[in-house]
Amino acid sequence: MLTKLELQRFAKQARIDIVGVAAIERFDELPPEKHPRVIFPEVKSVIVIGRRITRGTLRGVEEGSNFQNYLLFGDDWLDNRSLAMATFMLSEFIEDNGWEAVPLQNLPPEVPPMGVKVRPNQPPPNVMLDFNDAAVRAGVGELGYCGVLLTPQYGPRQRIQLILTDAPLDPDPMLADPICKGNTECQGTCPLNAYQGETQQVIAGKKMTMAVIDYSICAACKNGAHPNRYHPSGKPDRLAAVCIRNCITCLEKSNRIGNRFKTPFRTRDAWVIKNDVDLYKI
Ligand code: SF4
Repeated sequence: MLTKLELQRFAKQARIDIVGVAAIERFDELPPEKHPRVIFPEVKSVIVIGRRITRGTLRGVEEGSNFQNYLLFGDDWLDNRSLAMATFMLSEFIEDNGWEAVPLQNLPPEVPPMGVKVRPNQPPPNVMLDFNDAAVRAGVGELGYCGVLLTPQYGPRQRIQLILTDAPLDPDPMLADPICKGNTECQGTCPLNAYQGETQQVIAGKKMTMAVIDYSICAACKNGAHPNRYHPSGKPDRLAAVCIRNCITCLEKSNRIGNRFKTPFRTRDAWVIKNDVDLYKI
């Protein structure tokens, strides 16, 4: 029998910063084409794992002097090397204990089907799950007003992957207390006015208020945002954009992030660019 404690101990050794478990029943409200069962019919537990984006990885963007560092240590290398290796290792550990483990990369859930159905009552490939949705169900965090996953440890600074397993693990409770206080603090943090109203999202009974964001504006934003590198239909990567760096500043100032520092993240006004100069050419 694999216990949750054994899983957590292994994850800690593998330097995995975030681990959360949701019982598959928490996904029952999802349509079949977005349900983890369509990938692994025997799944009993959905494990969300994450590694932090170190605060220093964002320094070059915050200063406006180096964007490439974030693209490697905060995006590509973190996701495709460091976190992917951790996902491999945890999957191997689960399978060493006799349970199947399906590792999943965080690909955009907006990507349309790319193949033909192999059975009549099954969606066409590739099924892309919504990882932020899974993270909320696994008690890892919440969706902030800014529309990204926030965790109590790192705020918006993490990347996550999933493992589906038939191991029946103790689920984590969903996050009870909100991290984000909503538009009272967050409004106006987009210099390009991409925040265009408000909406409520409910995931497994948890209500979250989020900005309605015009992602076509974000796709052209030169304030630290980048087009989605997997598929043009995916949302732009905003984790280093000024809106999300504002979020980090806000959460740190109000002591709502567990990962604390001796000095503040922001020491002067954030830079903002409103025209379309190409900052990222190397
Ligand atoms: S990515 Fe740019 S345009 Fe989009 S919300 Fe953030 S600052 Fe605004």
